[in-house]
Amino acid sequence: MVAHHWAEALLRAHPDGIALMDDAYMLQFANQNYLEMWGFSEKSAYGMTGSERFEYQLGLLAKPESDAFALRLLNYGVDAQTPRYFELKDGRWLERITYRHKAIGGHDGIVSHWRDVTGQHMEVIASQHERDLMHSMMDSVPDQIFFKDLESRFIRINSSLAKRYGLDDPAQAVGKSDADFFSADHAAQTRTEELEIMQTGTPVFNQLHHEVWNDGKAAWNVSMKMPLRDANGQIIGTYGIAHDITEHKKAEALIWRQANFDALTGLPNRRMLRDRWEQAVNNHKRNHQGLALLILDLDHFKEVNDSLGHAVGDELLVQVSKRIEDCLRVTDTLARMGGDEFAIILTDLTPETDVGDIAHKVIGCLGAAYELAGHTVFVTASIGVTLFPQDGESFDELLKLADQAMYEAKRNGRNGFYFFTSALQERARNRLQMAEDLHVALREQQFYLVYQPIVDLRTGDIRKAEALIRWRHQARGVVSPGEFIPLAESIGLIEDIGEWVFQTAAQKVRDWRAQIDPGFQISVNKSPLQFQSKRRQASDWADYLRSVDLTPDAIVVEITEGLLLDASEWVKQQLLSTRQSGMHLSLDDFGTGYSSLSYLHRYDIDVLKIDQSFMRDLHPGSKNHTLCKAIIRMAHELGMQVIAEGIENTLQRDLLIEADCDFGQGYLFAKPLLPAEFLNLAHKKIDLS
Ligand code: C2E
Ligand code: MG
Ligand code: MG
Repeated sequence: MVAHHWAEALLRAHPDGIALMDDAYMLQFANQNYLEMWGFSEKSAYGMTGSERFEYQLGLLAKPESDAFALRLLNYGVDAQTPRYFELKDGRWLERITYRHKAIGGHDGIVSHWRDVTGQHMEVIASQHERDLMHSMMDSVPDQIFFKDLESRFIRINSSLAKRYGLDDPAQAVGKSDADFFSADHAAQTRTEELEIMQTGTPVFNQLHHEVWNDGKAAWNVSMKMPLRDANGQIIGTYGIAHDITEHKKAEALIWRQANFDALTGLPNRRMLRDRWEQAVNNHKRNHQGLALLILDLDHFKEVNDSLGHAVGDELLVQVSKRIEDCLRVTDTLARMGGDEFAIILTDLTPETDVGDIAHKVIGCLGAAYELAGHTVFVTASIGVTLFPQDGESFDELLKLADQAMYEAKRNGRNGFYFFTSALQERARNRLQMAEDLHVALREQQFYLVYQPIVDLRTGDIRKAEALIRWRHQARGVVSPGEFIPLAESIGLIEDIGEWVFQTAAQKVRDWRAQIDPGFQISVNKSPLQFQSKRRQASDWADYLRSVDLTPDAIVVEITEGLLLDASEWVKQQLLSTRQSGMHLSLDDFGTGYSSLSYLHRYDIDVLKIDQSFMRDLHPGSKNHTLCKAIIRMAHELGMQVIAEGIENTLQRDLLIEADCDFGQGYLFAKPLLPAEFLNLAHKKIDLS
């Protein structure tokens, strides 16, 4: 009680205006000076709510808009000890300090301390106010701000820079210089920069620094630095703002890598290849040495990928890229173009350099076995070669020509290289013309089917035929399917052509079931693309057959081994549904691809057609003889029948009959025939003796 009275007396007598408020800002106590300062009567002040009182005070301020926030915020007890200055309409200046107090009269609350500072130097008050603002701004920006003296020692830095320097308090930097934080080289460099700024008085903007720190770590910084001047304009140091862009630089480098290099092999990609090519051409202009652009494509990579999985395929590509690199000089460029395609730039070729030797060497290196996840894998490669400037001037053109040459290498049995020649270009032009002509061939009924007998090797009967397509071209005469089917596949015409083949063969088999034998069957070749396409389903074909009064077993669909390896659900389902709908499945060209026995079983293949290549050198005891016998025995064990393709002589025929082969097809019996010729032949038996 005594203490309380003593304190109250002190407050009343205090020359400042003092107000005590509770947490709801209701006035608890105000001394006389406070009431007078604000023109409150004792009654009015205590009768107001907190916000009523603020509204009233606001009404007295000279700049209520700009001061309202400070008035309210500081009354809420925030930022307690910082003096704030308020100008009143009547010209007075009031200084205020606010702080929270603990339990006066049992409750926490707020104390506001007001002092009339009118007549004191307003500039001082205002500049102090501004300095406060500036410091708090400096410390809240994420950029680094510094002021240095003539010796490049820090006068002041902001919190952000202190943090970067690992200092708890910006004040710890005062008197230090760059040498305390950075490598000697870097410190010397910034010192030189700053000396120049101070000597010339010219600021430096957007300066990029690669900073090396004392501890060896590096960072990227971009800064602007200006001369620091005193009130008289005299240069007394430098100041600046800097921004750490290390993260940005890292992201930039990553993006650049991703844009220019292949993620799997780390090799340059197509884009980078183009850059390197341009560089190489520039060098060529100086030294006149030759260049070569090569395209390399792996043979049958898809089969490795499909049968062993993508992870193994990826690993193979990595090993391949290493092997190619080992064959090249460091000045050459190896790039991955995507998939299993690579490109090579050979530079500084002298007239003596044989590019063929280099291509040969690369092919040799790639041919050795690869050990991949427990598998031993062999792949080969085909390479197309173009020479600059002989073959072409532009990168895009050379790339195209190299591609053509590479395809030529593939056509010539793969595992080899091919130089671009003008004959090749002629062929490419030809292809283009053919593609154009193919587009009208269906409409103008230029296609027709020939039928090759499939002879029962036990009886000599002809109860089966393979339908083979021919194209009667106005200018070229009869074109064989080997020439135009791949083209039709690549230009999207194969489905329509396949559909036509199927319907034409279906009509024919209906005739021949009536004329030759009710069990007569015709085989049609179906391109893998027809299975992959979703335009028609396998069951549509069976429906068509029923609609023309045929049982689906009238047609045998010939597929190739590659299709069995196709991993897609759709293709699997189409294969199963072909068989389930009642059509028969025949596996063409067996023995040339990567078939696995389990596939044969899974898809319920009815017939294997041993590829023509097995007929070559077929004589007793030859390797092909052994293989034929084994294939036939295996097929029979699995419940399949066997057709031998390409029988041209009686020796081949007799060996196959002896090996218990079911059917034979080949020039020995008949070439593919027109329907009338076929009908003639089918009525007779083939003499097998
Ligand atoms: P394929 O299905 O393996 O057809 C057998 C090919 O071997 C035919 O060639 C045939 O004329 C030929 N041949 C038959 N017996 C002998 C022989 O004793 N000796 C030799 N050296 N060759 C013989 P063709 O008619 O030129 O057909 C080539 C390939 O074109 C066919 O191979 C087949 O894959 C494809 N093809 C043919 N017609 C069509 C079709 O309608 N659609 C599709 N997608 N492909 C077709
Ligand atoms: Mg066939
Ligand atoms: Mg075949």
